[in-house]
Amino acid sequence: MTSAAKLSLGCIADDYTGASDLANTLTRAGLRTVQTIGVPASDLALPEVDAVVVSLKSRSIEAGLAVTRSRAAESWLRGRGVKHILFKICSTFDSTDAGNIGPVMDALRADSKDSIVLVTPAFPETGRTVYQGNLFVGSVPLNESPLKDHPLNPMHDSNLVRVLARQSKTKVGLVDLATLARGADAVRVKLAELAQSGVGAAIIDAVFDRDLETIGQVALDHRLSVGASGIGLGLARTLAAAGNAKPDTALGTPIGGPAACLAGSCSQATLRQIASAEKVMPVLHLDPERVIAGKDEAQRALAWARDRLGDGPVLIASSSTPDEVAALQSRHGRDAAGHAIEQAMADIADGLVQSGVHRLVVAGGETSGAVVDRLGIPGFLVGAEIAAGVPVLRAVGSGRGEMVLALKSGNFGGPEFFSDALALMP
Ligand code: ADP
Repeated sequence: MTSAAKLSLGCIADDYTGASDLANTLTRAGLRTVQTIGVPASDLALPEVDAVVVSLKSRSIEAGLAVTRSRAAESWLRGRGVKHILFKICSTFDSTDAGNIGPVMDALRADSKDSIVLVTPAFPETGRTVYQGNLFVGSVPLNESPLKDHPLNPMHDSNLVRVLARQSKTKVGLVDLATLARGADAVRVKLAELAQSGVGAAIIDAVFDRDLETIGQVALDHRLSVGASGIGLGLARTLAAAGNAKPDTALGTPIGGPAACLAGSCSQATLRQIASAEKVMPVLHLDPERVIAGKDEAQRALAWARDRLGDGPVLIASSSTPDEVAALQSRHGRDAAGHAIEQAMADIADGLVQSGVHRLVVAGGETSGAVVDRLGIPGFLVGAEIAAGVPVLRAVGSGRGEMVLALKSGNFGGPEFFSDALALMP
């Protein structure tokens, strides 16, 4: 088990997918990283790691609640000896004038006693750049991107200095690209000037990957920064270069024993991946009508799996074609159908684990959420990538024994995803 002092970075992510993306980015940059689901228990035993990403669901909830939950995460991280905390937001700065980026930043800044906080959602490799404080999504300003029509957080202003100032109690300033291009010391001088004039948060431009590294260096002078996976990358590279990390995506000893795959995603990619899996492992297609009718279908699936697990991995799928999905939804309602199938998948996962399966691949974002909730897994150590954005995960602090998982949402992964995943989950 690690000593608290070894944690060099703590992150508080305002949603689960963003947290996974950040944890994966930190791992790729050389930090051993654990992602937790919510604020962990105070006695969570961690393996030896460099970074912890606490996943919250605080992006679109009431601002006061977002502040309370973020501060609970902060206090857990500081209690583990974390010096620098990144408050991880969406790279499209999803928020409204009521928050939640500004209020959470204000509260964490007050706790950290930083005079000024660097803020940037820039992540050039995914097309998010900031110039003169304006956020671009690909080639268009934020307010001309599809984010202008976001159902929860429509973004009508690309100027983040203004956007953040409307949400925050502090004055917001800008560190522009010209200053950044002159290097870390020029940024430090500019920040000191801004802080002197009462500015408590500075949007910092970033257009190229290398800009993130300069930002990472300067941010580590402070106790708090705010941004997306891009600034996470800058922080991680700085920490890794300083020798504060041991690059290693090995997840410990192989787990062995039976393995199973569950698919609740109906995406095109998943449907193709199921078709490929049929060639190499037994596949059971659930009858969605029977799933909605009661628990028998899950029990039937478990009995089917138990008969085969001794011979190799199996796949159980609820996935259907778009036409079949639409027909089922029109008969039962979209939410009711989705929820019933998610719960059946969770029942099946639970039964499989009871039958000795400790290597589990799950396709579908919501499906994965339901499975992880049911298995009561508090966190994951992030391992090697199976496909872009989909790492192998080892459960941390689980009461269900050692477990290794792959959780894939939507269209991720190549055609052989299920076999690819199992090959990396010995
Ligand atoms: P993705 O990551 O592809 O969006 P999710 O698991 O997030 O996958 O969402 C898929 C949703 O579809 C879940 O709510 C799941 O329960 C539901 N679902 C799965 N199979 C079917 C089906 N045959 N008909 C209708 N809904 C389904």
